[in-house]
Amino acid sequence: MGTRARRAHPSVRGARRRRRPRRAARLLRGATLIVVLGVAVVTLRIVMRDDVLAETHAGAESPATEAPAASEPEPEPEPEPEPEPDPEPELEIEPTEDENEDEEIPVPETGPGTFRVAEGGGEPVGGDAVLTYRLEVEDGIELDPDEAAAEVQTVLADPRGWTAEGDTGFQLVGEGPADFVVQIATPGTVDAICGEYGLDTRGQVNCSVAQTVVVNLRRWVEGSPQFPGPVEEYRALIVNHEVGHYLGHGHEGCSEPGALAPAMMQQIKGLDGCVANAWPYDENGTYLSGPAVP
Ligand SMILES: [Zn+2]
Repeated sequence: MGTRARRAHPSVRGARRRRRPRRAARLLRGATLIVVLGVAVVTLRIVMRDDVLAETHAGAESPATEAPAASEPEPEPEPEPEPEPDPEPELEIEPTEDENEDEEIPVPETGPGTFRVAEGGGEPVGGDAVLTYRLEVEDGIELDPDEAAAEVQTVLADPRGWTAEGDTGFQLVGEGPADFVVQIATPGTVDAICGEYGLDTRGQVNCSVAQTVVVNLRRWVEGSPQFPGPVEEYRALIVNHEVGHYLGHGHEGCSEPGALAPAMMQQIKGLDGCVANAWPYDENGTYLSGPAVP
């Protein structure tokens, strides 16, 4: 409709055109002023906003950068955060608490020489000649006796373990009498217990004396530089070797280069060409033997 109207009245369009320049100039000036003012305001706003943003960034960044900073020192030894009186970091430490559980267990050089006992009640494993055992963890060690007992029980129940020997069986019991005791102790306490029997464990190694298998916490936690596998596998070697002594087995050497090292070999002293191995028997139930070592 509008288009048709313009076509119909060309003279009116011409008149409007002529009046336009003055009005347009005024409008243009006005518009320019508005634009200039507008630009000024916008510029001012941008400048102000930048300041605000800069602060916001700084404000947003500081908690973000603080969080990892606070979580980084946190996985280090647990007792350390305590002496710090600042209450604020504790709030930020909370979300990373889970990491603590995967942390290495601290190894105090020595302890009180008293022990807490794991709960018993487990099913016997292996053959009918069941040997009962108690598991004890020295007081002050951050290791749950029940968890340690479960780990030991898994090793003793393994078909490559001493149950392959015939009708030997094992059963974890709690407080009370047992055929033998597995103790996990600090290096100092291991030295004290083993030293009573004339054994020098030098704060480094385990021993088996009388009816007691004494496991050095340092070896339980750190494994051995001679053992390339995971620490759980080295723990199996500790259990198998020391329980082997309790069962009457002496030390054995490497049979030939490339062979699996006997569980009764003192593998921490070197492998003599053998391959590190945690188990007394292989998958087929064959005893992995070596020449007797005096
Ligand atoms: Zn030994």
